[in-house]
Amino acid sequence: MNVPAAGGLRAINADLHCHSTVSDGWLEPEAVVLRAIANGVQLLALTDHDEVGGIDAAADVARAHGLDFVAGVEISVSFAGETIHIVGLGIDNRNPLLLKGLEQVRSGRDARARQMSAALEKVGIRGALDGARHFARNPALVSRAHFARHLVASGVMPDVRTVFDHYLVRGKPGFVEHEWAALEDAVGWIRAAGGIAVVAHPARYRLSADNLKRLFDRFIAAGGEAVEVVSGAHTDDEMRRFATLARQRGLLASRASDFHGEQESPVDLGRCNPLPADLEPVWSRLLPTAAAH
Ligand code: AMP
Ligand code: MN
Ligand code: MN
Ligand code: MN
Repeated sequence: MNVPAAGGLRAINADLHCHSTVSDGWLEPEAVVLRAIANGVQLLALTDHDEVGGIDAAADVARAHGLDFVAGVEISVSFAGETIHIVGLGIDNRNPLLLKGLEQVRSGRDARARQMSAALEKVGIRGALDGARHFARNPALVSRAHFARHLVASGVMPDVRTVFDHYLVRGKPGFVEHEWAALEDAVGWIRAAGGIAVVAHPARYRLSADNLKRLFDRFIAAGGEAVEVVSGAHTDDEMRRFATLARQRGLLASRASDFHGEQESPVDLGRCNPLPADLEPVWSRLLPTAAAH
């Protein structure tokens, strides 16, 4: 690696999950990399939703500035009636199986966006599809975050969080059920592309204890290897809970801001908690010279 880390591999400022305008982040891929560098990140993965279109641009800027960078993706999965996110790290972003899988996942988004817009219209909110599209720089990737931004910009709600609570989560008027990828398919695409599969922000899923156990059983059986213990979406208690799970299930641990933009994200790039000291960092498998540490 380029940056010698005082304190060894574990002390590296790794941030292995964030978003650009290629999905629902606010910054272009290049700007994500520059912000990460300014914040002291030493190893970065860009992980846009269901899309690797920003990887080459981000990798170029990272290389020009000597930042260690790994290609990533965050795949939307349906499991036990809930949407689960599986991050892939260290993927070959040209792998045909991965690209075909991601295209298939993205292909449902347009119809879903139309249905969301129609559902919002029923509660008196007109023109939400055009509004969301205005915020989506990638027309193939209109997300609920883009709808939320439009509803804030048009004065319907004060902030994105409130839009989600009132309109965009299950049981609310703008929520539309959607079938994403199967868990085994997502893990399989990531592995086919030479990557490591990671369960993203596990504390955010509304799963029973039994279903959470089944999620990890099936994830591990499919070849999944890591879990986000430190996430911008986790409280300290949640971090400790999933540190315990990583130990019990023998999973590698990831550290990730899930940064989307300073307006929306509680944790900035590279500003997450350190990993608990006894966990094996997932980046021990991502850095070419990691074995030397
Ligand atoms: P989608 O993939 O279209 O279902 O959109 C999911 C995205 O919406 C997530 O990746 C977050 O960026 C955002 N999101 C989901 N839930 C919330 C929430 N409660 N508050 C703010 N943003 C959220
Ligand atoms: Mn997002
Ligand atoms: Mn996510
Ligand atoms: Mn994310």
